[in-house]
Amino acid sequence: MCPYSRFQSVMLDSKSLKVSYDLNRGEPRKNSQIVGNTSTNKPSGDCVDCQLCVQVCPVGIDIRQGLQYACIDCGACIDACDEIMKKVNQPTGLIRFTNGSTTHWTDLLKNRNRLMAYGALTLLCCLGFVYQLGTLESFDTSINRDRGQLFFYDTNGDITNPYTIKIHNKTSSKADYKIEVTGKFSESLSLSLNAHVTISAAEMRSQNLMVTCRQPCDLPYRNQVNLKVSNGDQSKMLDFVFFNPK
Ligand code: SF4
Ligand code: SF4
Repeated sequence: MCPYSRFQSVMLDSKSLKVSYDLNRGEPRKNSQIVGNTSTNKPSGDCVDCQLCVQVCPVGIDIRQGLQYACIDCGACIDACDEIMKKVNQPTGLIRFTNGSTTHWTDLLKNRNRLMAYGALTLLCCLGFVYQLGTLESFDTSINRDRGQLFFYDTNGDITNPYTIKIHNKTSSKADYKIEVTGKFSESLSLSLNAHVTISAAEMRSQNLMVTCRQPCDLPYRNQVNLKVSNGDQSKMLDFVFFNPK
């Protein structure tokens, strides 16, 4: 089942342009075996029943049987039929895009509530897409405490808390990221990572981050710390808890 054709068919209304076979002009069909044979006086329409419109149809329907939900309005049958009409010296357009009436195209826009609603919806989607493009994040980042231990004393006897920081570069070029503690702990806490980390295009980097408070560390037991990660264009704030044993 083609979802496009289903979707398209529910959007139709009585004024929609669609691929249609001109029943009045085409019927009754000529037998293709007698095209050019002038000996028959049997009245007939312009369709020579060559079946070409059916053969070229990608969804395998016969448009001469009327509007069908499977039709995707590709127009292949129009081109095929026009070629046949030229060969039998008849005007083209036996199958054509039409709304079944002779209404002028300017009238096609009147009283089309459904059309207006779909138009407004499409415009809204386009605006949303443009907004998304404009606010696209150039990177993503997160921080998690390492499992197993809240803190440890490093070789210098300083209090260290272990974390893992992830940075995902969402751009198509290499970028530098600056990581720094902000706020009231910016003086008392230091990071094991260099201030600048370079990450390749589209790379997701995950690495250890040791946060250290040099002795004598006079912070309370539990400290809510802000970490800033920035790439020059955008910055993100991360929160984590630093523990200082008493
Ligand atoms: S291609 Fe045209 S002439 Fe041939 S069967 Fe289809 S409608 Fe008739
Ligand atoms: S060829 Fe395309 S337009 Fe014609 S009937 Fe098939 S799907 Fe519809």
